Amino acid sequence: MTSITFIHTETNLDSFAPRLLDWFAKNGRHDLPWQQHQTDTPNPYIVWLSEVMLQQTQVTTVLPYFARFMESFPTVQDLAAAEWDMVAEHWAGLGYYARARNLHKGAKQLVAVIDETGDFPQTLAGWEAIFGVGPSTAGAIMAMGLHRYGVICDGNVKRVLTRWAAIDGDITKSATTKELWALAERLTPRENSGLFAQAMMDMGATLCTRSKPACLLCPLQEDCIAHAQGRETDYPVKAKKQPKPSKFSNALLIKDMDGKILWLQRPDNGIWGGLWSLPLQFVEKIDGKVSGKTTDKNSKASDDKLLKVANNKKNYETEFTTAEQIINEWLDKHNLAAAPINKTLIDDAPIKHSLTHFHWYLTQQSVTLTNEQVTDLTTTLQAADVNINWLSAEDAQATLGLPRAMVKILE
Ligand code: SF4
Repeated sequence: MTSITFIHTETNLDSFAPRLLDWFAKNGRHDLPWQQHQTDTPNPYIVWLSEVMLQQTQVTTVLPYFARFMESFPTVQDLAAAEWDMVAEHWAGLGYYARARNLHKGAKQLVAVIDETGDFPQTLAGWEAIFGVGPSTAGAIMAMGLHRYGVICDGNVKRVLTRWAAIDGDITKSATTKELWALAERLTPRENSGLFAQAMMDMGATLCTRSKPACLLCPLQEDCIAHAQGRETDYPVKAKKQPKPSKFSNALLIKDMDGKILWLQRPDNGIWGGLWSLPLQFVEKIDGKVSGKTTDKNSKASDDKLLKVANNKKNYETEFTTAEQIINEWLDKHNLAAAPINKTLIDDAPIKHSLTHFHWYLTQQSVTLTNEQVTDLTTTLQAADVNINWLSAEDAQATLGLPRAMVKILE
């Protein structure tokens, strides 16, 4: 299958799984609500759901979300039949919202497969065809959700293996990924690969942790090369990240005379896809030198330049949704445009929200409309097929799927 040569001896490679499984039997966690290793009738839906939730998110954070999902959507059919808003509301706060969209689309795909074949997909390729399911998640579902053969190589596994075998290639590079997959395949037993996957995940999460690995308790301690070198936390090797750029936006609290606020459902693609947010206005420096993004992480407090709503065409079209463009133009037409804000205010007042690719500074701006204006704006947005809602802050939090940044603004 592969020509990769492993640094460890065959004896070490062969004894890896027995040592790990022995440790897991005695010291691992066996009471997580999604674990299926203690049943003869595993439920792939549960494994799929938990695997998607656990991507980039810790077990303690996932537990209450998983419980709520299972209560509201106990089967894949329930999830597929649910309205997107309901799914979004259950997911709100868990972050990386593309996962929720994929989960909902994936549930519909799975129901179609079940209707056609009478069961969940039974092959790796079948699972990889489901939205949001990559090779490691598919391997996990095969192994843990179906008790068939499956290999996982997620972040936890990569950390353990790069340390145990002192793999010093950059883990973001495909050559290193290949090497890690080959090692994971070599180590995974044909029998009990689900138990092995569960044990690997547990060991990565509880012993071989990012910053303080508990090597003295580790079943791999004897032949772990990083441990022998005293260089545990030098692995995995990852190219140094560039500092994140910063972006600045106004979050518009457009209110009616009763204090109800205008909410927009964001388009499916892009940040917070399918969730509800206040209309946003991308803002840029008024001198025009910087257009809303800067790579200098200290620059947010370094001058007192004014920020104004972006009006250069490129930014306008890329940084505003269609609904936000309509609102922006509508506000302009009615002389209600948000005033420029002083950039030094960014230090205290606004919400700082960190996303994968940038830090986002959101400043609240309030505008109250007359009844006539509310009707006019509502009609204009509805004519453009934009999903909107006028709701108080409390009702919005209770009934809409809001990203965490919006909750921060309301608070
Ligand atoms: S010995 Fe330490 S670094 Fe090596 S695998 Fe175990 S916990 Fe990780």
